[in-house]
Amino acid sequence: MTQDSAENRTVAVLVPMPSETPYTYALPEGMDAAPGAIVAVPLGPREVIGVVWDQGGGSVDPRKLRAVSRVFDCPPLSADMRRFIDWVAAWTLSPPGLVARMALRAPAALDPEPPVEGLRLTERRPDRMTAARERVLEMAGDGMAWTRSGLAHAAGVSLGVVDGLRSQEVFETVYLPAPPVVPVPDSRFGRQDLTAEQSAAADNLFGAVTTGGYSVTLLDGVTGSGKTEVYFEAVAAALEAGRQVLILLPEIALTQAFLERFHDRFGARPAEWHSDMAPRAREKVWRQVAEGRVRVVAGARSALFLPFRELGLIIVDEEHDPAYKQEDRVFYNARDMAVVRGHIGGFPVVLASATPSVESRVNADQGRYRHVTLPVRFADAALPDLKAVDMRRHPPARGGFLSPVLLTAMERTLEAGEQSLLFLNRRGYAPLTLCRVCGHRFQCPDCSSWLVEHRFRGQIMCHHCGYHEPKPEACPECGTLDHLVACGPGIERIAEEAASHFPDARIIVLSSDLMGGVKRLRLELEAIAEGEADIVVGTQLVAKGHNFPGMTLVGVVDADIGLTNGDPRAAERTFQLLSQVTGRAGRTGKKSLGLIQTYQPDHPVMRAIVSGDREAFYAREIAEREKAGLPPFGRLAGIIVSAPTAGEAMGHARGLRSAAPPAPGILLLGPAEAPLALIRGRHRVRLLVHGDRRADLQGFIRALLKAGPKERGQIRVQVDIDPQSF
Ligand code: ADP
Ligand code: ZN
Repeated sequence: MTQDSAENRTVAVLVPMPSETPYTYALPEGMDAAPGAIVAVPLGPREVIGVVWDQGGGSVDPRKLRAVSRVFDCPPLSADMRRFIDWVAAWTLSPPGLVARMALRAPAALDPEPPVEGLRLTERRPDRMTAARERVLEMAGDGMAWTRSGLAHAAGVSLGVVDGLRSQEVFETVYLPAPPVVPVPDSRFGRQDLTAEQSAAADNLFGAVTTGGYSVTLLDGVTGSGKTEVYFEAVAAALEAGRQVLILLPEIALTQAFLERFHDRFGARPAEWHSDMAPRAREKVWRQVAEGRVRVVAGARSALFLPFRELGLIIVDEEHDPAYKQEDRVFYNARDMAVVRGHIGGFPVVLASATPSVESRVNADQGRYRHVTLPVRFADAALPDLKAVDMRRHPPARGGFLSPVLLTAMERTLEAGEQSLLFLNRRGYAPLTLCRVCGHRFQCPDCSSWLVEHRFRGQIMCHHCGYHEPKPEACPECGTLDHLVACGPGIERIAEEAASHFPDARIIVLSSDLMGGVKRLRLELEAIAEGEADIVVGTQLVAKGHNFPGMTLVGVVDADIGLTNGDPRAAERTFQLLSQVTGRAGRTGKKSLGLIQTYQPDHPVMRAIVSGDREAFYAREIAEREKAGLPPFGRLAGIIVSAPTAGEAMGHARGLRSAAPPAPGILLLGPAEAPLALIRGRHRVRLLVHGDRRADLQGFIRALLKAGPKERGQIRVQVDIDPQSF
């Protein structure tokens, strides 16, 4: 070997750790690892998995380096995927290693799945023919490989007959790839006849897919207009073009009905991807996506980091949903990163919603996104008749939360044998427990939040960290017995109130803390869809994407909840949530009603919902954002400092602030308490960075973090680009 080639045998490997740059390793003789290859490398006392990011130059002496220990027999991460990882890291100001880790979430999938033994006919004939043997030969005569039991079963003979033929070498053993996790979808399987509007929308999406190249389309249509049906046509086009497809859904674990619908259209389910899957199932999906054997994935936001080979379309359903934002380690919005992935891969992205985010609406209005609208519900299924119930004029009975207007409507619905939904975005029995004698309030010892009474469990608990204790009988402050009162409603309390009015009604309470987890939730959702409940009381979990054919009344118990927290996004969120939850009613054409209990019936959000005038809402909201220079007309980022004490966090944040380089067009606000000031025993303060649309916030923050005090001891600094609340 020449000196030159010896020096070139190094690789830069990105390891899934909070490392800023790849590490250099030597490649042992005879080992090859091109960029993207997945390898095992020694790191300190351990061996870790990493991705070859670059082939090394000649600047380091390979004899001084540790060597790559193994190259996995696994398809490499594509160049696009590696660019995507680098891009996400730079945008979110996260170490590339941590972003790469999201793409390597299935370590056991790195080795190929063991092949399955199969049998194939040879030229030999059996010594003696029997009727059973004849049937086997006839079955296997197609020249295909069969599994032993599959062949016996198909020919209707015992395994012994097959084994007998095998021992005479009538069959040879071949190795078949492990079975696919899902069959290949058929783009023509259950094609629907579309309405004229749907066809026009579908043609538009179809055009985007078949002309190829990057584009973003906002598919904007009221609930029930057939957005899913329409984007399925784009999926079909991408499949016909030989590309893989990713469909992102905010709550895939709970929208199993979606998989059925996909099956009806394509004759096979998509592969699922979310955190509630068993590790083994995840590994299979990861591997087969990398091999290109899985053609369509329906997944939660983390599916964006699957190692697709030939991704050609991403659909982001319910694109406005806050569940797309991850606020843990790498803070990212999967909707926005999906657009980036489309840009890097040069393929179309479709954002679907009945209530698009203000950001996407502005992008569509300004021509950066294509805008495809579906203004009417399918088959004239009417949107529910929506009314605001002015709670000042129709107060509930003492100690209750349901107005007489809503109760009367529930009674009529029950009599008609139809379903009602009572929506309240508050889990538990009561959001606050206090002592009637001394006024003591129960607060979480680790968070800045009140403990919520859960009567079914007999506990008071914290909704941020899960801290809980049995519901006390005496006040810890003044010692008085039996004087604790529940303040305000949670869904358990609403269910209790409904039961007191309608003792014979079948009531289901639905929220994410239901005992029994996702499995139980799925069963309950199915039961509701099958009409096994008269009254459903639920949190936002029931608002999302479900189809409840018997539901004709939706009562929003407290429409004002989300408007009072002072967040500039509050109006948008409330508008989206109320539209979505009232959209659960009347999906099958029955006359339906939505009653919205509010103390502010004149609030622009209530007016927009009741009048159905979405355009007025967007126009107003967009104008206000523009005036205040808020997203998407300006840019925001949070720098969150957390520490065991408020003093340490504040001190560090002030240090960062004073290190800020001068930057025209960028304003640094704070430090102030973060939206959640205390969580899991850590105090959090936030600096808010506000810039104009073209401001380089990332560059500014990078410079500030470099110049300011470093993380030390228990002090942590986390950057949140495009924060949810501002
Ligand atoms: P969206 O996604 O806009 O809420 P969906 O795609 O879920 O709307 O459609 C609402 C309902 O109407 C679904 O039950 C769907 O099966 C039905 N539907 C929509 N379009 C058609 C069509 N062209 N043919 C048959 N059924 C349709
Ligand atoms: Zn807590």
